Amino acid sequence: MDLKDLYQEIILDHGKNPRNLGKFDNYNKDAKGNNPLCGDNVHVYLRLNENKKVEDIAFEGHGCAISMASASIMTDMVRGKEEKEVKEIVSDFLGMIKEKDSLVTNILKDDEKTKLMSLSGVKQYPMRVKCATLSWHTLTSALDNSDQIVKTEE
Ligand code: ZN
Repeated sequence: MDLKDLYQEIILDHGKNPRNLGKFDNYNKDAKGNNPLCGDNVHVYLRLNENKKVEDIAFEGHGCAISMASASIMTDMVRGKEEKEVKEIVSDFLGMIKEKDSLVTNILKDDEKTKLMSLSGVKQYPMRVKCATLSWHTLTSALDNSDQIVKTEE
């Protein structure tokens, strides 16, 4: 199986069966995001414990396969990580989607990087980039306690 097929398979899998979908009770941070161009909506919930570790994370939402797959992969990826590690992963991912060819963080294992790289195919399509990055911007907003709804368009 070549890399492109593998990436496709990961996105289809997460798009059809998103992980961490739903809401849990004792979250202490959350934020909403909206991508009106495609109709993607996400609401990210997370629980940071006293050591600033992401104890639990989940999301509610609906939208295209890319937005759902991205939120699914993201929530899988940051559970159990410390806040500063999460921020590093987010910025590495956004950098990769926008310009870099690969991920540089050493926080993630190779198989985790492969999952994130599965979204790299959207790079050439600015509309799709918004779908892929929506949940990531929303996660950042939740960590920063922003009350603003994250919007891809003004
Ligand atoms: Zn979308």
